Amino acid sequence: MNIHEFQAKDILKRFGVVVPRSIVATTPEEAKKAAQELGGGVCVVKAQIHAGGRGKGGGVKVVKNPDEAAARAGDMLGKNLVTHQTGPEGRKVRRVLVEQGLDIARELYLAMVLDRAQSRVTVICSSEGGVEIEKVAEEQPDKILKETIDPVIGLAPFQCRRIAIKLGIPAALTGKFIAAMQGLYRAFDECDAALAEINPLILTKDGQVMALDAKMNFDSNALFRHKDILALRDTDEEDPRELEASKFDLSYISLDGNIACMVNGAGLAMATMDIVKLYGGEPANFLDVGGGADKAKVANAFRILLADERVKGVLINIFGGIMRCDVLAQGVVDAARELSIKVPLVVRMQGTNVAEGRKILADSGLTIISAETMAEAAERIVKAIR
Ligand code: ADP
Ligand code: MG
Repeated sequence: MNIHEFQAKDILKRFGVVVPRSIVATTPEEAKKAAQELGGGVCVVKAQIHAGGRGKGGGVKVVKNPDEAAARAGDMLGKNLVTHQTGPEGRKVRRVLVEQGLDIARELYLAMVLDRAQSRVTVICSSEGGVEIEKVAEEQPDKILKETIDPVIGLAPFQCRRIAIKLGIPAALTGKFIAAMQGLYRAFDECDAALAEINPLILTKDGQVMALDAKMNFDSNALFRHKDILALRDTDEEDPRELEASKFDLSYISLDGNIACMVNGAGLAMATMDIVKLYGGEPANFLDVGGGADKAKVANAFRILLADERVKGVLINIFGGIMRCDVLAQGVVDAARELSIKVPLVVRMQGTNVAEGRKILADSGLTIISAETMAEAAERIVKAIR
């Protein structure tokens, strides 16, 4: 689960990371008032969406006075902001953060990530902050510094000092820099984050170390023990189809193609997407209804797939293990009737009660294309939508 910059900054502040003074605003009038409260001088108006690259996309504007803050907030609020992370349709800006403007001496990059290869949290740091870290990693890999954290010891002071020295942090600021690193690590660890990133972490001309931007992403499987973090969820930022699917406990990921896939088991779902591509099709989604799905769950999954207007055909690929093929077939038939399905439907199923399942499909009077093997199923759906 992702959260907004202003929410991540609130969390980091609790862990001792210094952040600029800022106020959230949802209207130009509120933005003006916020700028006044921050002293009436130079401020930065920042669009709050779950995507980075806002600066380049016009979502971060420096303003000189409260009136300008209101004007820039007015430009952003209610509009779609397009950045390299949002896709061409962009994201609607519903609030802005009005923040004190700072005199930046250096912009650094600092993040805690889970290194899956090492099964450990790793600090990533770079002198090249404020820019896309992926670019730095590609063009100047020597500018990326890493320290692997021992989960028992935590982020050790000597590791922080080693990074501070390599980055050339002035001696007078080393203590503050280390406090920022330690705070970020504790926030990552105690909140069960999957990513905690400060880009940029700045050194100001008057000798402060501050998180100017913040991004946190949390492990959804651990959210049950962080009710306060779960409360920060902003469903406006989520794909509406994925949101709907999550209500029925379906694993659903929206993709760019036009063949909807309904599958049980993540492995089979991946294999299904692969084979659809192999036959020249493009999957519209990844949907795993799970091993023990019942008729209602199948019907809900089917409904979500068909609600997507990009979908030109549906491929159902089910292995009846715990789930019985006749239950699946009945769910599909019921849903297809209720929704009066208009696109081609290919069903491939194997396993428990497959004969009964096939009979239900055959007797349903619906135009359903059956397939025996996965290859056949993929070939048929690709052909059917052409
Ligand atoms: P994004 O990463 O989405 O582009 P950031 O919050 O990192 O957004 O802002 C982009 C850039 O804008 C920063 O690298 C920094 O140079 C500048 N900036 C952001 N906030 C401030 C601020 N409070 N004062 C001065 N400059 C800022
Ligand atoms: Mg940033």
